[in-house]
Amino acid sequence: MTEETSTNSPSSNEPKSVEIVANPEFITWKYPPYCELCNVCFTGESCSKLHFEGQNHKNRLHTWKKYQHSETPSNNLKKFLCEICWKEMDTQRILDDHCKSPAHSKEVKGRSIVKKLKEEYRQLKQSNNIE
Ligand SMILES: [Zn+2]
Ligand SMILES: [Zn+2]
Repeated sequence: MTEETSTNSPSSNEPKSVEIVANPEFITWKYPPYCELCNVCFTGESCSKLHFEGQNHKNRLHTWKKYQHSETPSNNLKKFLCEICWKEMDTQRILDDHCKSPAHSKEVKGRSIVKKLKEEYRQLKQSNNIE
């Protein structure tokens, strides 16, 4: 007696979301198709290159580095940092306001996309054995 379960997948339950997947062609890139610091992803190497060499990115990188190199925050470091946007705030209140801003929520959204993309990118790289 064989019982076969029908493979009816109850699809169309989920609202259609924009799926961003890593393009296998990206793996040969010198620049990744996303920027973790700025929570953005790119559609081509030239966009990516442009971004990583741009001032916007460099500013964030600067802030990021500052926090990576200090295990114990010195007095020079402001404590009110948004670790999503890598922006320093003067007071907790400003930070709170910032976290409610549309600009910040956009970054949060971007971060989740980048996270996913990063994992796919990593797997692609691994399967292609690229160092
Ligand atoms: Zn960036
Ligand atoms: Zn933020």
